[in-house]
Amino acid sequence: MPDIEQKIKEAAGAMDNLAKFKKRTKLQASYVEYDKFADSNLHEGYFCYNCIYWVNASGGKCMLVDENGPDVRGKTSDVIAPHGCCTAYEANYDKLHDTRTPSASVPVDTEKNKEKVTTADVV
Ligand code: SF4
Repeated sequence: MPDIEQKIKEAAGAMDNLAKFKKRTKLQASYVEYDKFADSNLHEGYFCYNCIYWVNASGGKCMLVDENGPDVRGKTSDVIAPHGCCTAYEANYDKLHDTRTPSASVPVDTEKNKEKVTTADVV
């Protein structure tokens, strides 16, 4: 029985934490959305599309940032657009890839794109 009690306490704690979590506004997250990037190759660069927090289900949402309200440029779109970005960006290395043709690019080790680079790697 103590096992079940422990599991119930853990589940109740998780629900409590979930209820306390409040998403950031677009302004708090410094979210920005430029229409000129809407047709960009979203597999490259800093876009919500490549961010681990972006959820495409039901039209562009983010686990951290509320889709309602204005962005830092005053634009209100009521979605977290795939071509948007904010300061909480965290790369999803399974989505990022180099799409240049072999002749247009230097040889690139695409597996290296999946390695997380930190400031400790910068000399
Ligand atoms: S870049 Fe910011 S707004 Fe976009 S999905 Fe990631 S955390 Fe959300």
